[in-house]
Amino acid sequence: MHSVIIIGSGPAGYTAAIYAARADLEPVLFTGLQMGGQLTITDKVENFPGFPEGILGPELMTLMKKQCERFGTRIITEQVTEVDFRNHPLTVKTAAGAYQAKTVIVATGASARKLGVKGESEFTGKGVSYCATCDAFFYRGRRVAVVGGGDSALEEASILAKVATSVHLIHRRDRFRSGPALQARVEAIDNIHPVMESVTEEILGNDEKGVTGIRLKHLPTGKISELEIDGLFGAIGHEPNTAVFKGHLDLDRAGYVKTDERQRTTARGVFAGGDVQDSVYQQAVTAAASGCMAALEADKFLAEMEDRVYPGDQP
Ligand code: NAP
Repeated sequence: MHSVIIIGSGPAGYTAAIYAARADLEPVLFTGLQMGGQLTITDKVENFPGFPEGILGPELMTLMKKQCERFGTRIITEQVTEVDFRNHPLTVKTAAGAYQAKTVIVATGASARKLGVKGESEFTGKGVSYCATCDAFFYRGRRVAVVGGGDSALEEASILAKVATSVHLIHRRDRFRSGPALQARVEAIDNIHPVMESVTEEILGNDEKGVTGIRLKHLPTGKISELEIDGLFGAIGHEPNTAVFKGHLDLDRAGYVKTDERQRTTARGVFAGGDVQDSVYQQAVTAAASGCMAALEADKFLAEMEDRVYPGDQP
């Protein structure tokens, strides 16, 4: 029986582990398949406080992992496949076995949203990607397109522009959603070509070459055109990783875990932090903060459960 099980190894999970371990709760943390979470597929993180020159995403996550191990977190590199939050003790299952806990902190984050167009699943891994940091290498001297108009899309485009000959940045609106500093940076890059008010209708290709192009629709005119490219990068936001919690936690309409102001979910003793319960901010620093809150609340819950009385507590 564990006091706290943490599911997820992004900034929320690791921060929850640091706090839980320092409170002597001996947390067990399941990393999932992508240890370190989305920041491990990011380039430089320039807005995490404490790193004035910025820090590479994978390096930041390695440091967080080291910090929670230093205080005694047990890290298990397994994927949680099933939970039972309807009964106490709470149960978390992986392919290797079942674990029981008094509290669980859900910090499973979010994953890239799919475009939902013809050819996408067929060519995923054969020219369709959702991570420029991971796959830019394959597009040296080739032509690519990025779909999206937020920070992710513009960042992906600027990473790809360093290796690809051309980067078409396809956005469905007439202006980008991303911040002005990033927009100015992208505008100054010669081989990024914005394609505004346009949507991808189909990804074209064949077995031999993978992606060879896309069919685009210009929304104001309805005009269809084809663009020859070798790779397409989707960067249209994220979806929360909550499939395993359906039926055990209340989710909102977009699938995010519902939490109250104290990171409590609808299941007793289950707390959540990070992108899995945040459709608004989705920053490393806000994820870390809500992970911290979830751990403090789990500790409080355990204290109440065991009727622990701390010095200075009101009777
Ligand atoms: P986002 O801000 O939600 O932007 C998603 C973009 O994709 C929007 O431009 C949206 O268009 C477009 N889109 C959504 N569905 C689409 C579809 N089916 N077809 C075509 N286009 C579609 O997502 P994000 O860029 O991943 O950013 C998420 C959060 O992470 C934000 O808070 C962002 O600030 C943050 N972030 C920060 C950094 C950084 O600080 N360095 C880096 C990456 C992400 P509309 O504009 O029409 O809605």
